[in-house]
Amino acid sequence: MLGLMQSQQLLISSLIDFAERHHGDAEVVSRRVEGDIHRSNYRQIAARARQVANVLDARQLGFSARVATLAWNGYRHLELYFGVSGSGRVLHTINPRLHPDQIAWIANHAEDQVLCFDLSFLPIVKAVHGRCRTIQQYVALCDESALPSDTGIPGLCSYESWIGAHSSHYVWPEFDENSASSMCYTSGTTGHPKAALYSHRSTMLHAFSGALPDALNVSARDAILPVVPMFHVNAWGLPYSAAMTGAKLVFPGPAMDGKSIYELIESEQVSFAAGVPTVWQMLLSHMQSARLRFSKLKRTVIGGSACPPAMISAFHDDYGVEVLHAWGMTEMSPLGTVCTLKNKHDQLDADTVMQVRLKQGRAIFGVDMKIVDGNGKELPWDGHSYGDLLVRGHWVLANYYRADTASPLVDGWFPTGDVATIDADGYMQITDRSKDVIKSGGEWISSIDVENIAMSHPGVAMAACIGIKHPKWDERPIIAVVRRQGSDLSREALLAFYEGKTAKWQIPDDVVFVDAIPLGGTGKMQKSKLREMLNDYRLPNT
Ligand code: AMP
Repeated sequence: MLGLMQSQQLLISSLIDFAERHHGDAEVVSRRVEGDIHRSNYRQIAARARQVANVLDARQLGFSARVATLAWNGYRHLELYFGVSGSGRVLHTINPRLHPDQIAWIANHAEDQVLCFDLSFLPIVKAVHGRCRTIQQYVALCDESALPSDTGIPGLCSYESWIGAHSSHYVWPEFDENSASSMCYTSGTTGHPKAALYSHRSTMLHAFSGALPDALNVSARDAILPVVPMFHVNAWGLPYSAAMTGAKLVFPGPAMDGKSIYELIESEQVSFAAGVPTVWQMLLSHMQSARLRFSKLKRTVIGGSACPPAMISAFHDDYGVEVLHAWGMTEMSPLGTVCTLKNKHDQLDADTVMQVRLKQGRAIFGVDMKIVDGNGKELPWDGHSYGDLLVRGHWVLANYYRADTASPLVDGWFPTGDVATIDADGYMQITDRSKDVIKSGGEWISSIDVENIAMSHPGVAMAACIGIKHPKWDERPIIAVVRRQGSDLSREALLAFYEGKTAKWQIPDDVVFVDAIPLGGTGKMQKSKLREMLNDYRLPNT
């Protein structure tokens, strides 16, 4: 017997409809590329999202056609979130920090048809447009008057003129909730970047769970500052959870330095902010040196890489702000765990509670997790046994977009590549990463890419890249090199060799010359041994 309740598809368009109807005057405030502050609200965002849908219809973009963005967090980006996905197209948020070669590769792989970009990224678009085979329309996210001339980009138009000619009346289409809604490439592992392709259903369920009190605790009484970029896993789903609850949104645009973030938090009375540790480090140093206080900020969610204990204490003890440590990944939309406390923690002393807060947290409803040993045998939740972390759930990837390999799932579980413990209360803690990627300022650097460039130098016999802890950027890459016989290759010459071959921030901070790189039984480099060899090594200028 089937239930007798109404059946509606879970569609992203319903979020902006709801926000417009019930929270039309809730504000969306953005610092723009131009530096000024722009004020909008859900009523205006909804109307302009419908204009986006109309222009895409007028251009006859098919169902599931990809519309790409190279954009900071801002109101126009939010309009595209709803207008593109709501009308049945797929929003492809591209990470502008990638090397232009990777950006061109990604745009071709996704078969993007439109690219909307902030003017900060004009140099990137100029560099790649000749290589983007499928893009038919380039749209600069600016007013007509700010549109630069003589860019050489064919058919470039301003966003305001692009949507301005179209009506704000539009009826969102109904379609299968399993249809793709957005996509995000991750370059964590070897080879080309791979894309997670989210669906309306997965995004909606993620937004519901993400808004729960024991997750990010989003409500109409909040003013949320997502510093986490909208080009990286949909800013942790905050644009959707905010529309679902009618929370005010405050977008930082390109200004993520401590001073700009502090000013925005205070002027817009932000109650809740989310970002990677690097951003909060800059904010804390600014506040400490200028002796500033928060007037309204209550909590911050910190994830993307492990949050240092000193940061949790500084927020809590010095500023009365609760830090919620969170863990997730691109393949998980991204939320997996959030470290919120249980009643029992009220009885514990501050040090013990701190040990809990340092963990990445417990699973939110909709995600299940387990840890297994090398043979795939499940390990106990005792807080000590550590093993490979696997997850499954409503918003966990089943396979990569246009993957040329089999599904990564193991008996229906997604292997995260992280190594973790889980305690009896279900709190998970990442102890290590099984991959060798380097996390720098919240971004990934593929050690293999760094090695491949070094290996292409005639003076290099072998090269291995590892991450070294860095006080500001979390980790920075260094490259250990065995010189080819007879070569007198210098540190400076090798670093100069990287120029122009990869993004600047992906260039290693240092070169260490070694006699040999340790190899394992099958001829693979043993980076754990290399790390041991370089135990006493310190990065320059730290
Ligand atoms: P990404 O797909 O770029 O979001 O990166 C996901 C990876 O970042 C995870 O698999 C973890 O290795 C790492 N990560 C994310 N959040 C945390 C955290 N709170 N603590 C430690 N590592 C984290």
